[in-house]
Parts: sequence; structure tokens; C-alpha cells
Amino acid sequence: MIKPTPSPLNVSQQLAVLSSAPIEAFTAHLANHDVPQLHTGNLEILQHNVGKLCNQTCSHCHVDAGPDKTEENMEWATFEACFQVAEQCQPRIVDLTGGAPELNPHFRDAVKKFKTLGVEEIIDRCNLSVLLLASQKDLAEFLAENGVHIVASLPAVNEQQTDAQRGSGVFDKSIKALQRLNELGYGRAGSGLQLTLMSNPSGAFLPPPQSTAEQRFKRLLRDRYNIEFTRLIELTNMPIARFLDYLIDSNNYERYMQKLSSAFNPGAVDGLMCKNTLSIGWDGKMYDCDFNQMLELPVQASCKTIFEFSNELMDNREIALANHCLGCTAGQGSSCGGATA
Ligand code: SF4
Ligand code: SF4
Repeated sequence: MIKPTPSPLNVSQQLAVLSSAPIEAFTAHLANHDVPQLHTGNLEILQHNVGKLCNQTCSHCHVDAGPDKTEENMEWATFEACFQVAEQCQPRIVDLTGGAPELNPHFRDAVKKFKTLGVEEIIDRCNLSVLLLASQKDLAEFLAENGVHIVASLPAVNEQQTDAQRGSGVFDKSIKALQRLNELGYGRAGSGLQLTLMSNPSGAFLPPPQSTAEQRFKRLLRDRYNIEFTRLIELTNMPIARFLDYLIDSNNYERYMQKLSSAFNPGAVDGLMCKNTLSIGWDGKMYDCDFNQMLELPVQASCKTIFEFSNELMDNREIALANHCLGCTAGQGSSCGGATA
């Protein structure tokens, strides 16, 4: 079982480790399937990483978030630049992530503003335990009143496994928070309030088939805790940040990279989230996805921040790739929206 650790490798070291993996590189896999380079398509999702502040320190966290990350929070001026881009590009989805995005002091004002811009769907990537913090006691009601789609992390319907990955007591808190969300209508048929759960493996292996796992989660949560939810997303652990440290420390790195490479699925390429998403960092820097953001691989365009955004300069741009991308194309594929194949 993996244990929480700080991330000792800086991003250059992580990229060096990824490029030296004794495997067929991600770009070679693409070329073998006549896809020499990936380009972006229509911008549908504007994803904002609004800061690294979090009330948890999960062992698999690709953001390296935690309670001590108080400095790196998106400021209102940066949100305002994001509103302008949303107005200009009319994305279907605005996705708010972190850290615990709700701990950014501008979170609620940002949700309200994006709603006025006609965004079809606003996603809050919620760790559940944040809903129980004394400072956030009306958060669940706020999210329900504003019709925010909650995408919540729950690695397993199992206390030991969840607590090992996310911290002692997190499973109990998650169950309480899910029950509270159900009381407000979240996950209940006909309420219009979507409650998506997100699960990832607890070690160096690929996730199970999403549909099988969803049926299992639904049965166990209903039978044991009377909890309902809308759908389950299965995520592959990305070989970056804390999970990369774990792979190296546990001598699993080469085996895991080999596993991702052997499981390369060309059918997962079309659904890669980098093709329709723009990821914005807390400081306004722009990336092709949240993982590239954590590796500080910027967009390959002449404008690098949301303050200088230009649709023409960003359109059909080449996506920045490295071997961590194998985590998105292994098996059923993996993205913030779930399996891609
Ligand atoms: S709750 Fe999410 S952001 Fe916070 S430490 Fe865990 S994985 Fe990272
Ligand atoms: S890691 Fe990012 S850039 Fe690479 S394939 Fe996945 S979504 Fe695309």
C-alpha cells in the first residue's frame, strides 16, 4: 500500500526519469499508429487549477498539494482574465480543481460569475472531506443551489484502502459527506444534481474496467451506506509527482512504465483530454492538461499565460508530450472525464 511522502524530485528530474524509461516512448507509439503528432481541436473545457492548498496530503497526489501550500492560490485578477476567455471561447464546461478548489477564497464568486457567462456545466473536483470543515459548513448547499457538478475522489469502498491512500479518517468523512450530498439531491435520479465519483488504484497497477467497477461501487455504497451517485470514473495513476516517488522508492518504476507502454491503446488517443481542454495554473500560465501543468510543460504557442490569450495563436496547436502520456492511453484510457476508449 502506498504511503504519503513529500515529492523530492523537481520537475526537471521527473522529466529526466520519464525520458530515460527503458520502454517504447509515447511518441514512438503514436508514430507506429500513423499519428506522428497530436494537435488540439475545439476548446470545450476550460480547466482551472485554482491552487495547491488542500486539507489532505494523499499519497498519489499528482499536484503535490497540502495544507502548507498557502502561497500558490489563484488571485481574482487571474480569475478575471479567465472570465474574459470563457466569454470569448464559450467553453461547454468550466472545471475547477486544486488542491481543494473550494479553499480558494474566490471560489464561490468565480462559480457565480461563470454561471452568468452561460457555461453549460461547472465542475468542482471535490475531495469530500472539505465539505465537513467548520469553515465550509454551507459549502454543500452552495454547490447544490448553483447546480455545480461534483466530481469527488473515493479510491475504494473500503476504509483501510482509502485511508492508506488519502489519510487516516478520510473514508468516514467521505461517507458522511456523500450522505449529506444525497440529502441535498446529489446523485438522486431526477434532481439534476450530478455526483460523479473518481477512483484510482492503490498501487502500481492499472484500474479495473470502469463499468464493472461502477456496478460494484453502486452496489456496495447503496447496501452499506444508503448512498447513491451518478457515475464512476476510473483513473490511471500518472507516473509524476508523489506517485513517481512511490514507484521509484518501491522499485516499481520500470515495471509500471513497461505496463503502461505494453497496454498502449491507439483507440484511446482520440478521446485524450488535451485535445479539447485548456488547463490554467493558479498563476495564469497555460498548459495542455493538468499533468503537463504539474511537469511545467507549457502550451506550445507564442502566448503562454491567460492574460495574453489569443484564439488564433492557440488554435490547432501542437500538444506537449512526454512519457507520462502513456498513463492516458493505457488500456481503457484515462482522463479527467474517465475512460477514453
Ligand atoms: S485531495 Fe486531491 S489535491 Fe488534495 S492532496 Fe488529495 S489528491 Fe491532492
Ligand atoms: S498527459 Fe496530458 S498531454 Fe499527455 S496525453 Fe495525457 S492529457 Fe495529453
